[in-house]
Amino acid sequence: MGLSECNVMVVEDHDFQRRTTVRFLKDLGVKSVLEAANGRKAVNILTGRGRPLDIIFCDLDMPEMDGVEFIRHVAEEQLSQAVVVVSAMESSILHAVETMAKAYGLQLLGVIPKPLDSQKLASCISKFQPKEIIRKQSAARDEFTVEDLRHGLKEGEFIAYFQPKVSFATGEMKGVEALVRWFRPGHGMVPPAQFIPEMEHEGLVAHLTEVLLTQTCGYLKAWALMGHVVTASVNVSMLCLTDVGIADRLHDLVKESDCDPRQIILEVTETEVMTDVAKVLNVLARLRLKGFGLSIDDFGTGYSSLQQLSNVPFTELKVDQSFVKDSPTQPRHRTIIEASLGLAHKLKLKTVAEGVETRAEWDLLKSMGCQTAQGYFVARPMPGHQMPAWIQMWQAPEAACL
Ligand code: C2E
Ligand code: MG
Ligand code: MG
Repeated sequence: MGLSECNVMVVEDHDFQRRTTVRFLKDLGVKSVLEAANGRKAVNILTGRGRPLDIIFCDLDMPEMDGVEFIRHVAEEQLSQAVVVVSAMESSILHAVETMAKAYGLQLLGVIPKPLDSQKLASCISKFQPKEIIRKQSAARDEFTVEDLRHGLKEGEFIAYFQPKVSFATGEMKGVEALVRWFRPGHGMVPPAQFIPEMEHEGLVAHLTEVLLTQTCGYLKAWALMGHVVTASVNVSMLCLTDVGIADRLHDLVKESDCDPRQIILEVTETEVMTDVAKVLNVLARLRLKGFGLSIDDFGTGYSSLQQLSNVPFTELKVDQSFVKDSPTQPRHRTIIEASLGLAHKLKLKTVAEGVETRAEWDLLKSMGCQTAQGYFVARPMPGHQMPAWIQMWQAPEAACL
């Protein structure tokens, strides 16, 4: 396809930069260039247009609808065949965007750091291959092989999303939990429940923990530079705790990332019957000695939770979301929560309620003395680069009502 036949759009909130990009494109011979000052305006212009555009050039940091959200719309609604990201953002964010675009089957022709010039634009455009738009595919029921998992780990397809944890008492943001998402090319986003058991079975889950921990440390540093010093929780499958080398590996990894183990809480869930109790206890004790916080996840659902509590130096207890759900109307749920919080209090463990979805659940758990809230009522898990903006706009429900 010649440049003159290309239909392109420039989405950029900065007037001068947008006009400059448009001028470069016209100088290169592109005849039809649409413009929009942010993602929302671009979606409005493009929705209802008969056929998709060829290439969209977009910034990431824009008001109203940021570039990442915009690219998702472009992919899901098939508004364009290809995208070029023009951004001054750091490489970890750009990498996440690249993975997401690929997962949606969108052609990502390149990532151009600002300031851009016409040579870089031309080189991205030259990679464009017009073709039939790839049909949307649902990952939900897709099969995958162990090789797909290995390949995904190698290619950086597993990305940490983060969900905030806030104080019930003050509303203050205390930390985040890292939750993995698999952006599988051509299949969309695959949630952890679909692949963690397979990874555990195939002995890949320790590698996943290391990947998530590295990404998490990267974000902790980036957020701290913006003035947001928080802790981060990373999920660790009980199965990888039978490997005695893991305590040193996780410690070294955190140190190499320039972070402190005291910023990290490892959330341990019982996934299978613990076969090698002595080894697991040894590893957990050593992790604690090195400064990591240890949280017992989904408390109340594992068969030997109580026994574990007495043996392991846990620092935090997470009330499982199945008890939080409907707790305002379910006296039995309330009883279990009360007992869990009482036990945590006696053992001097911090308490977190997961799955807080409603104001009624927030009010109840707060009145019962739970310290920290996590759940959709506060925020859904989000990509790490969105966290600083979320922290800025977050208001505790009590404050929001004043
Ligand atoms: P979890 O560690 O107990 O994480 C909480 C889950 O509840 C997350 O699901 C989160 O998205 C979801 N959630 C949070 N708030 C709410 C709410 O208000 N309502 C509802 N209905 N759900 C809420 P997700 O991300 O699908 O993760 C599921 C599980 O997969 C996690 O449960 C954890 O056990 C496991 N997992 C996630 N990431 C990793 C990882 O990196 N490594 C390992 N080994 N396991 C992981
Ligand atoms: Mg967890
Ligand atoms: Mg949980």
